[in-house]
Amino acid sequence: MDSCCSSSSSRYLHPSRSLDGWFAQPDYDNIKFAEYLNGFMREYQSTLLQPKLRYTVLKEADIREHQLQCMTEVCSKLCVSRSSAIILLRHCNWNVSMLFDKWFEEEDDVRNKLGLFRKVPLVDRSAGSFTCEICFETCDAGGDLSISSNFCGHFYCIACWATYVSESISNDGVGCLSLKCPHPGCGAAVGEDLILSVLVTKLNGDADKAKHSQYLLRSYVEDSKGKRKWCPSPGCDYVVDFVGGYGTCDVSCLCSYRFCSNCPEVTVR
Ligand SMILES: [Zn+2]
Ligand SMILES: [Zn+2]
Ligand SMILES: [Zn+2]
Ligand SMILES: [Zn+2]
Repeated sequence: MDSCCSSSSSRYLHPSRSLDGWFAQPDYDNIKFAEYLNGFMREYQSTLLQPKLRYTVLKEADIREHQLQCMTEVCSKLCVSRSSAIILLRHCNWNVSMLFDKWFEEEDDVRNKLGLFRKVPLVDRSAGSFTCEICFETCDAGGDLSISSNFCGHFYCIACWATYVSESISNDGVGCLSLKCPHPGCGAAVGEDLILSVLVTKLNGDADKAKHSQYLLRSYVEDSKGKRKWCPSPGCDYVVDFVGGYGTCDVSCLCSYRFCSNCPEVTVR
């Protein structure tokens, strides 16, 4: 095949020897076709050589374990808190190596974009009291009644924080994992640590905590840019994780449901 193609194309690359050969031009149409055919065959052959798409099926415990591994790696390598790691991983589709690349290339940009500000203004806690910008109650600035994001100096009373966090969990879906400071234009990140600590003070805070934890789980799938998919079978909570290879494949879930990897993404749970 190879010799056949190359000999035929080299023939067309020379001016044809016709009677009016002096003015003869290469046969461009045939050259184009030979090149097209060559390219097509090369592509076809490389498709045959490409490894097929592979997957594993994950249960909730597997996902939690994978997430924990990702977070632990990010925390130790980048020297950031678990709360920051969640925000960073979500931003990079839970792809640790992509996150490291971005971070080491443009840490400041990433921090600014996500509100993980490095220069947090010093707050004078000796002032004694302050007025919460949301409820306008006077609070004890140094006490347990006030709190701010780790990345800015805007203090609110705990009751207002709890309401703010709870509303986000009810309305923002997975977006509650990227909550920002309520101060207009601030944009500082509000991490898992603050969210969980203010929910402790709230009536039915445990329900919100459980929802938040569920969103963290969902983020691993829904923020993965299609690398992971929920099994489309109704009531099945397993996740298909495509771990390598190319093309499409037939997936067989642990629940015995079978589907095609190329089917439209199931996002509504
Ligand atoms: Zn308040
Ligand atoms: Zn702020
Ligand atoms: Zn399933
Ligand atoms: Zn399909």
